[in-house]
Amino acid sequence: MNIDEIIEGISRKDSRSISRAISIFEDELLADKAEELIRKLYPKTGKAHVIGITGPPGVGKSTMIGRVSGFMAEEGRKPGVLAIDASSPYSRGAFLGNRVRMQESLGEKGIYMRSLTNRGFKGGLSLSALGACKVLDAAGFDPIIVETVGSGQADLDIMSVAHTVAVILAPGLGDEIQAIKAGMMEIGDLFIVNKIDREGAFIAMKEIQDTLALGPQDKWVKPVLGLNSLTGEGFQEFIAELDRHWEYVNTRGDGKARLQGEVALIMESIFRKSLERLMSDEGGAMETLRRVYSREIDPYMAAELLMEYGIHDPARSTRLK
Ligand code: GDP
Repeated sequence: MNIDEIIEGISRKDSRSISRAISIFEDELLADKAEELIRKLYPKTGKAHVIGITGPPGVGKSTMIGRVSGFMAEEGRKPGVLAIDASSPYSRGAFLGNRVRMQESLGEKGIYMRSLTNRGFKGGLSLSALGACKVLDAAGFDPIIVETVGSGQADLDIMSVAHTVAVILAPGLGDEIQAIKAGMMEIGDLFIVNKIDREGAFIAMKEIQDTLALGPQDKWVKPVLGLNSLTGEGFQEFIAELDRHWEYVNTRGDGKARLQGEVALIMESIFRKSLERLMSDEGGAMETLRRVYSREIDPYMAAELLMEYGIHDPARSTRLK
């Protein structure tokens, strides 16, 4: 399948083409093929509402996403789900097993679901996810629900490309407060306390509301919702709030801020890839270092050369005078 065939398949919502395209972003990130793909896809994108869902393991993210996408599909929407696993390879087995089951049950309802794990360089996962979002957008999926698992930077990166971020917590985890401290309050547009059937759920909601009240106040007042993902309780309100936030985002017209995040993410990935090449001597980085060693060029020059030419044509970095 060449890129044009893949693009054509994506327009037809052909799942083989969609999977192939996402694999290109997973395996050949920053290679010419991925660039060609994004260049040709990009004009076909821009319609989908990208919803990020983040929260600690065990709070019920996958159960909740199964429910919400199921309800949306019943309404005639075409949700697509991306599960991003940025966690350590040691905890990966359980995650993937869980997501394979999820994929099967969603597939029966015509919902596209795909897990992405980190196969490339460090930090590349967020960029793969960005590419995968573009693929689903071009294929006509809307909304695109992006679940992140793991912690730290990868979550924040993904969230900077989502239009709406829902932070999900549950009672009895003991780490609600930790999550709050870790900056979740800032990145969330909506807060969910799942497992509303469990003891302590209303206290957790109240705690979140109190903490939000201390933070900066915006035109968008961040709602705190309770859900029971086993019964579906609270989901109509949740979907209404997601739609209301999407409307808010569109009227506010903050497209530039998000683009800034997106381009910054790409720059960072290019930079990290250069760094990795430097460390592994892929593309003659050692030759550049040799020139520094012989005092032909200085380390600043070497850094600039590697950053400028390190990705697409590393060989040029040694040829350049
Ligand atoms: P994830 O790790 O955040 O994706 O969490 P899962 O979706 O795998 O859910 C973890 C556990 O919580 C599973 O045993 C679910 O059945 C259970 N669970 C999910 N939602 C609810 C809920 O609303 N109420 C209760 N009581 N259990 C739930």
